[in-house]
Amino acid sequence: MNQDQDLKQKLMDLDAVLLEKLAERKKVLTDLIKKEIGSDLIFGNKAQESILLKRLIREGKKLGLDSYFITRLFREIFTHSQRIQEELLSLSPRKEDQAKEQIIVCFQGVEGAYSHLVGQKYFSTRLDQVVFRGLPTFKAIVDSVERGEANYAILPIENTTAGSINEAYDLLSQSSISIIGEESWPVKHCLLAIEKVPLSRIRRIYSHPQALTQCSNFLSTLEHCVIESFIDTALAVKKVKDDEDLSEAAIASEEAAELYGLEIVKRDIANTRENFTRFVIIAREQLEYSEKIACKTSLIIATKHIEGALVHCLNVLARNHLNMTKLESRPRPNIPWEYLFYIDFEGNIMQAAVKKAMEELSAEVSYMKILGSYPAKVAMTGQSGEQGNHSKLVETIPAVQDALPERPATRLAVPEKKPYRLASRAYKDDDTLIKVKDVIIGGDDFIVIAGPCAVENEEQIFQCAREVSENGGQILRGGVFKPRTSPYSFQGLGFEGLDLLIRAGNAYNLPIITEVLQPKDVRSVAESADILQIGARNMQNFPLLREVGQVNRPVMLKRGLMASIDELLSAAEYILAQGNQQVILCERGIRTFETATRNTLDLSAVPIIRSLSHLPILVDPSHASGDWRWIIPLVEAAFAVGANGVMVEIHPEPEKALSDGPQALKFDNFQVMMQRLQRMKAVLR
Ligand code: PEP
Ligand code: MN
Repeated sequence: MNQDQDLKQKLMDLDAVLLEKLAERKKVLTDLIKKEIGSDLIFGNKAQESILLKRLIREGKKLGLDSYFITRLFREIFTHSQRIQEELLSLSPRKEDQAKEQIIVCFQGVEGAYSHLVGQKYFSTRLDQVVFRGLPTFKAIVDSVERGEANYAILPIENTTAGSINEAYDLLSQSSISIIGEESWPVKHCLLAIEKVPLSRIRRIYSHPQALTQCSNFLSTLEHCVIESFIDTALAVKKVKDDEDLSEAAIASEEAAELYGLEIVKRDIANTRENFTRFVIIAREQLEYSEKIACKTSLIIATKHIEGALVHCLNVLARNHLNMTKLESRPRPNIPWEYLFYIDFEGNIMQAAVKKAMEELSAEVSYMKILGSYPAKVAMTGQSGEQGNHSKLVETIPAVQDALPERPATRLAVPEKKPYRLASRAYKDDDTLIKVKDVIIGGDDFIVIAGPCAVENEEQIFQCAREVSENGGQILRGGVFKPRTSPYSFQGLGFEGLDLLIRAGNAYNLPIITEVLQPKDVRSVAESADILQIGARNMQNFPLLREVGQVNRPVMLKRGLMASIDELLSAAEYILAQGNQQVILCERGIRTFETATRNTLDLSAVPIIRSLSHLPILVDPSHASGDWRWIIPLVEAAFAVGANGVMVEIHPEPEKALSDGPQALKFDNFQVMMQRLQRMKAVLR
């Protein structure tokens, strides 16, 4: 008993130490930023954060701490640091901050509304100063800021499922407010009721029209229910709570359920898994942020009534190397058939290049209003303008290119009369870059995709995901629909396996790739898989190729067992011709008379394909060799021959694997592979 209390006390003491250390960290960070040591910002830049995180994961591992835990913990710490950094680097310090006055932040709705949650996140470093005020309409919150009754307001502006929120855009042009920040919120709609009742008992469902649109697929399955619009999600929750009627339910967040004491009847009911809303933080005056912070600028323009007017405006941005992240048009009030354009681009008005571009732009338009430059939280490439200078933190290994012979040229003349056109270099000379979350395939980086042949269970796929993430792999693979030679072999876990793969990918922040076998599965798999794989056996399954050609997801097309390079490129043509230009090719070995390996890895296909086509080409040595012992040298060879990356199979216990065990790398060998690649990169690229 006494010993128990001792241990409990010790635990509490340790928690207190953690708090002290966090406070100390905040102070050190503040001092560092104030002293402006170096010109590099660490937080808010994903590449830099991921280097820091990898280091922490390595250190944590030595101390017996799980990387999943470390990732989650430090992501929070980094986000908090980024906020501190932004506040200190806003050049026009907020008056109320200095005076330590109360800050009034208004939002549409009642406590627990998504806008309220976003406000708490955005102002998390100053919550003691903030008073939140819920108002009934968007117009009311904008007016309140304009009249100076509130310092800030939280305004939802677009949703990744339902699109732009027109009213918010119109209010931005009709008032004199500015944008000083943005926030992205992962909207996770739940169905809530006063008790955990079966769905069949629910008769009425209330929510905000946006939320109802975002959950339309789920709602269409509930024919027996009346759906009613409500001005706010949290208000709908409040109504269900007050009515105390078991046949009523509301669609809102988990946080709202907690706040009002409702039960979650069903989670994740939105049409798409990835459902985000972007909010802007508005104020009366613009804020100026240091050039060091990666900012986004928002503006409204009305074009002149001349031919090509919009193109002229967009050309100004392109000429000045400003990356546009959003273009929206809205009718111009009182001027029928004329439009206002809302533009967001990466850049900070404090930068000379942006100032110059804005001057040029003003000459091209009939009206222009700069809404503000503010720290970007959404859709940043991190490469624009002068913001990409973060080199000091990058772990560089001295390059020794000088000592090496020149690498062979990969572009040869394109022969005429090929059975494909869109896939050819003659059609498109530049290498195609394919962006998968933060990973770019086809660029300078050599990509490693790794994971088990088949997703077998939660533990196995989570272990693999951790291994991929901890060792610097970029994408997680896992088969859930398996094309097996024998109908008696393990055929995969299907959609259940896909769920596990998605969860593992999310947990370790890795995009996922999985094979689709039939046209009817393509659309549902494409909703959540980041890359769709077409297996070797399906390279010429034309209905399947046409189907993946119609979705907006990258497709990795594997070379057929008996396919020539021209046949592979012609198969890619099927996908491209349907409209989907995001095709990645994969050399995975072909059948020859050689029996020493499962297939023969045709490495010469790599430079040949790179000369004939602009599409990225990866190498899969696992299915080519069928034996884990040859994987590492073949990965090195793939790198040397100019492939854009590799895909390898790994397994925590290959001897127990349900498929392709003999070719799966054990984790320690995968680590060796990654180290060897690291060394080769330092030498060759
Ligand atoms: C796979 O990658 O899971 C696979 C089945 O490979 P292949 O289609 O190349 O045989
Ligand atoms: Mn396999």
